[in-house]
Amino acid sequence: MKDLLVHTCCGPCFVYPHSILKDTYRITSYYFNPNIHPSMEYMRRLETLAGFCSSAGVDLRVGEYDPQVYLRAVAGNENDRCRTCYSIRLNEAARFAAEKGYDAFTTTLLISPYQKHELLNQLGVEIGSHYGIEFKYWDFRPGFRAGQERAKELDMYRQPYCGCIYSELERYAKKLNTTMDAVRGNNRESRTTG
Ligand code: SF4
Repeated sequence: MKDLLVHTCCGPCFVYPHSILKDTYRITSYYFNPNIHPSMEYMRRLETLAGFCSSAGVDLRVGEYDPQVYLRAVAGNENDRCRTCYSIRLNEAARFAAEKGYDAFTTTLLISPYQKHELLNQLGVEIGSHYGIEFKYWDFRPGFRAGQERAKELDMYRQPYCGCIYSELERYAKKLNTTMDAVRGNNRESRTTG
């Protein structure tokens, strides 16, 4: 059986790839995600993944968490931030996999219909060849819903946004605007009636 390092963005996204690869590969999950903001969210996702790996008997490795690495890399180029984000994570996964003697690496990011699939594949192949390790491409997307359903059944924490501060802002932009409008409106009212 070959050794496969699976870069893992979070527990729920790992469930489906694990289910289809576990009989063919000896899998290690590698949690390396300096993009995740804030640190409490990072920990919550890690704990969820650790719980799943423990019950499924999967070896889990955890990389360093330094959000500055991500923030510095995307600063000034936030509109193209996903490319940088993928690149940081895949580079570290490939480096780790090559150093530790894995046969190949892949990423759970390939399960999300919200990610840039072709770009992930292109970067995975380029980065893999740089480190001399094979990037395994799978289109996990058909299993996205099933994986999320299974994660729900297992009572796993399922995050409401992709991960970075920008995606968190986008996720709550409407709510933030509504709240700010309401508070500003209340303030105006109390000035005119007070
Ligand atoms: S939206 Fe997601 S993939 Fe894109 S930069 Fe943010 S965390 Fe990374």
